[in-house]
Amino acid sequence: MSEPLPLPAIHASHAGTWLRDSNGSTRGCSKGEAVMAAADTPLLLLNAPLVANRLGYPDLSGLDLLELFAFVRPARFCVPTPKGLAEALDLAVPDSDDEVPLLLQRAAARMMEICESTDWAERDVAWSTLQSLARLRWPWAQVLAPHVRKPERAEKWLFSRLPEWEEAPERAQPQQVALDELAVEGHLERLTGEGAEKREGQRLFARGAGSVFAPRAQDKRPHVLLAQAGTGIGKTLGYLAPASLWAERSGGTVWVSTYTKNLQRQLRRESTRAWPERRADGSRPVVVRKGRENYLCLLNLEDALQGGFSGRPAILAQLVARWAAYSQDGDMIGGDLPGWLGTLFRKRGIAALTDQRGECVYAGCPHYRKCFIERSARASAQADLVIANHALVMVNAARGRDHAQRPTRIVFDEGHHVFDAADSTFSAALTGQETIELRRWIVGPERGNRGRRRGLAARLADIASYDEAGGEAIKAAVAAAQDLPSDGWLARLADGTPMGPLEALLAQVRATTYARDESGQEAGYGIETETASLPGELVEAAGTAAQALAAIRTPLMKLAGRLEAVMADAPDWLDGQGRARIEGARHSLAWRIDLLAAWEALLSRLGGPADADFVDWLAVDRNDAREFDIGLHRHWVDPMKPFAHTVLEPAHGVMLTSATLTDRGEEGPDWPHAVARSGATHLEIAPRTSQSDSPFDYANRAEVLIVTDIRRGDIAGLAGAYARLIEASDGGVLGLFTAIRRMRAVHGRIADRLARAGLPLYAQHVDPIDTGTLTDIFRDDPRASLLGTDALRDGVDVPGRSLRCVVMESVPWPRPTILHRARRAAAADEPGGAKGHDDRIIRARLAQAFGRLIRTREDAGHFVVLSSAFPSRFLSAFPDGTPVIRLTLAEALQRVAHGVHAVTGSETESA
Ligand code: SF4
Repeated sequence: MSEPLPLPAIHASHAGTWLRDSNGSTRGCSKGEAVMAAADTPLLLLNAPLVANRLGYPDLSGLDLLELFAFVRPARFCVPTPKGLAEALDLAVPDSDDEVPLLLQRAAARMMEICESTDWAERDVAWSTLQSLARLRWPWAQVLAPHVRKPERAEKWLFSRLPEWEEAPERAQPQQVALDELAVEGHLERLTGEGAEKREGQRLFARGAGSVFAPRAQDKRPHVLLAQAGTGIGKTLGYLAPASLWAERSGGTVWVSTYTKNLQRQLRRESTRAWPERRADGSRPVVVRKGRENYLCLLNLEDALQGGFSGRPAILAQLVARWAAYSQDGDMIGGDLPGWLGTLFRKRGIAALTDQRGECVYAGCPHYRKCFIERSARASAQADLVIANHALVMVNAARGRDHAQRPTRIVFDEGHHVFDAADSTFSAALTGQETIELRRWIVGPERGNRGRRRGLAARLADIASYDEAGGEAIKAAVAAAQDLPSDGWLARLADGTPMGPLEALLAQVRATTYARDESGQEAGYGIETETASLPGELVEAAGTAAQALAAIRTPLMKLAGRLEAVMADAPDWLDGQGRARIEGARHSLAWRIDLLAAWEALLSRLGGPADADFVDWLAVDRNDAREFDIGLHRHWVDPMKPFAHTVLEPAHGVMLTSATLTDRGEEGPDWPHAVARSGATHLEIAPRTSQSDSPFDYANRAEVLIVTDIRRGDIAGLAGAYARLIEASDGGVLGLFTAIRRMRAVHGRIADRLARAGLPLYAQHVDPIDTGTLTDIFRDDPRASLLGTDALRDGVDVPGRSLRCVVMESVPWPRPTILHRARRAAAADEPGGAKGHDDRIIRARLAQAFGRLIRTREDAGHFVVLSSAFPSRFLSAFPDGTPVIRLTLAEALQRVAHGVHAVTGSETESA
């Protein structure tokens, strides 16, 4: 075992604080002592923001082992806890908090050894990066310097190490083939493997899935299948079997779209049964494709490395450069960049390194041929299977650059989320943040702003000098964009000194929203108001703002026309790369022109009669009483209408699948409603439907406990219930809340008490850790518990003992927002009426949350709802046969402590 590095170390948890000095003794100490020690000398610590949070001292810094790990082991996985670090470095896992400081010393020493070893896999470019980090005064640089030897030859720099993508010929149209059911079954058998247990549900599911690949009989009328498949039937292989068979026979591409990253990872794993990692020509048959804002932009990174970033963000840029050299695909969000790296630096550094604003200059970029985004787009054009997410599939269909690359055979897994994804894709928001983004895109850097951001004029300088009318249009657009909000707009609105017509409008929006606010107790969070009976000043300001927007849109349209003309009659100097750049510019122009038109449409309706298809409202977005955005919003009442026309209509075969595709009311699955929610009815298509039930033994593996003696609004009682349930189950609890405020209050009351019992408690919005990493921590430690809100309700896939109890704070009623109210009103004429609409939402939430509990045949556990009045009509949300027991907290604690079905004698209802 490594000799500990003789530097002082600190560890702080909710249970206490421990210091270890350089000569080897560990002692417990007060928070104050710890802060003094950290101010004196840099201490070894793990996850500085988390330790700072525990000590209540935000300025804490030191020698963070996670930063060192990111340098020594870039693009490798590590759960950012003492246990996770120990496992990642093959060290003994500490048994208690007081052993952690010694572990930190050992881990530091171990990483120094790795740097010295001859077989350090990530040695390349380490020495030169370390020199840059030393100049930036990275605290580790001095400690590491003696252990990283200078290479004999000068190191290549990152950008020259990255491979270039190859241009490939366009793929031919897929051949029209129909899959017969026997062939699909045979293929499924090959994929599941000889001797695998035959699953009837999976076979039926696969046969049904095969039907969406049949040739289309009529234009604009795709095959649509809605397939409900209970957890555990093996639906992933169930659709991958026909998908891979069709791809092989037709030469076409199938897109599988998911909502969560977990499922993307699982699909990547399972697809290896159907496809090799690489084809004979070296290309990849399976590609994960995400929105461009997920990937590292090399031009932004270069800018950050060359002075665009300073201080801590500059250190982050160096560590990201280390990662980029070893990353599989340059995906910064949910890929192989550790999710914790961004939070260590507390600023939005990661976002600034991606192409958030669509400022890409395409072929005009010196890194175009190495660009991760371009590489992934090209790879997906040649792939048999593209794994993507709902938002990307929809955005691609709505404004994809290349028609040939638009998906035509799509499987939407986690299909119950398609509605929400369509809701946000097809909505419009005219807010301060959105408009300032547009200004930056057109105008570029202003008033000494650093960075590589270029405006339209710089991006299209050659066109401006070649084509006079084009040059004039650019100038006119830049001049008109001065009317958009600029830096400092929020402060000016608060001071009552707005500048320009858009800020004037936002000031009116803000004033009206506050004037009408009646939320009271929710003070500090977002507020909103409808667009009915607006004051005359606001309507007038909207008219002026709409004119200002039109004045920007007109020259942009002219410019788009000029670019088209230049392409049609291309000058000699315009080479292939130049054409690609103009193509890119045309594409992003078209998108901005549509955006401006949508904003103008939104403004033109203010003060007039409402459009039954849309819901409009004004909002001030706040976080802890701090305003961060203000503006107007428009959503479709039924977003599946635009979905049907942009996604379904051009497709040939679409399947939506999920365990919770239909509502399960008291009369059983509600297929008519699921069909209406698929969008198919807008094309007058009657989709096929199928149903495969879960093979899990819910009756014997799970119990729903409805605790009836916790009063609503009694925070102390709620916190006490959570603490006792976590103690009874010895951790392994996922706690779900509908309000962040209540979750924080509960966490604040119980975290210390639980930590002293060796039961770590983590929480979203409390711990400075991203949600994906929180889930990794929770999965890794069977005694840990995790509290969270919506994102955890169905984004968590933790099979096994780590998750053995789900506790919901109450019935998950929908929030009464303006959008919810409008959809509720629209549902008034449907069967079940407006109340039925709410019931469906609640049952869906309960079903999703319950779905976290039993992930495999071996899983078992309790699903607890703290609700004194849980209506029986919601019980059908749980799988058939699951026992439901109404009981007191004391009784529930007994059942949780003894495990499922260990206690008898209570009255049981059945789901
Ligand atoms: S091609 Fe675009 S996204 Fe890629 S590195 Fe260059 S500017 Fe960034």
